[in-house]
Amino acid sequence: MTLDQGQKDTMGRNGQNATVGFVGLGTMGREMALNLLKAGYPVCAYDVRKEAIDDLVTQGATRAESPAEAARDSDIVISMLPDTPQVEEIVYGEGGLLTSPPRGLLLVDMSTISPVAVRRMHADLKAVGVEFLDAPVSGGPVGAKNATLSIMVGGDRDAFMRAEPFFQAMGATITHVGEAGAGQTVKLCNQLVCAINIQAICEALALGRASGVDLEQLRNVLLGGSAASWMLDKLGPAMIVGDTSAGFRIDLMLKDLRLVQEQALSLSVPLPGTALVTSQYVEARAHGEGTNGNQSLFRVYDRMTNQAAN
Ligand code: NAD
Repeated sequence: MTLDQGQKDTMGRNGQNATVGFVGLGTMGREMALNLLKAGYPVCAYDVRKEAIDDLVTQGATRAESPAEAARDSDIVISMLPDTPQVEEIVYGEGGLLTSPPRGLLLVDMSTISPVAVRRMHADLKAVGVEFLDAPVSGGPVGAKNATLSIMVGGDRDAFMRAEPFFQAMGATITHVGEAGAGQTVKLCNQLVCAINIQAICEALALGRASGVDLEQLRNVLLGGSAASWMLDKLGPAMIVGDTSAGFRIDLMLKDLRLVQEQALSLSVPLPGTALVTSQYVEARAHGEGTNGNQSLFRVYDRMTNQAAN
């Protein structure tokens, strides 16, 4: 299958008038789909949760009952799913996009998944004329809501150019970082920095608390100097007050750290810092905190310093 002139025309020079099939309307996907609607793209929405589709339909999307239906009249399909198996399911599963590709023959997965699986899907889809981009994001639910995500894209350059107008509706920093899988590799590097950064903040707060300094003041001082970070800014307040509500769940970070470790082991790259923080995330999950927000790593330090409320 190749993209015929009619399909190219539908896309328009800057992608306007093009229809987007959106699969996965969770914490991130919902906001990203809403931003595509706001930018004027018709969105055909699908999720395994019916209530998530209902919600998007009230905001102007049309309903799909399957990934194939979301793809049928779409110039591009964008997926935002939890992990590798869910993305493989919408590609290889019954009625999947391998056999029911989008009209525009372009699939962009923005989830964080295995780079090995990405390369396999890229090759299998290419064999039937469908372009596949891996385009994971950083910036969290706030970045998704404000359309300020950082989007790191792997795959063929031509496909990237076709997808770029859609990325612009969802993000602020959009970078083509290389061939298939490169987007995921960059995202995994991002995640190990995030995890170790959260751990460093936990250690500073644990020491500050034990020493009797005011933690809010400690955070403000650090934000004004060379220890400032996105994590300290955005997650620090929740850590200090013990708010465990989820933006990015402990379970999702553990999934990402597993992917980091798999890639590091396959390339014989030792990552001792990542290994340590992964164990702490495992400990957090063992204490029933898998669905809590990432900042709940501080609860591990509560337990280690005998400060846990339960
Ligand atoms: P989420 O669990 O909130 O949303 C996932 C959505 O996918 C849910 O609505 C779920 O019902 C749906 N779903 C699951 N299986 C499906 C299937 N087979 N077909 C259709 N829909 C299906 O997750 P999220 O926080 O939105 O994260 C999505 C992806 O983005 C993950 O890979 C995550 O690692 C990554 N990510 C998340 C954040 C964050 O802060 N939450 C930030 C950056 C990247």
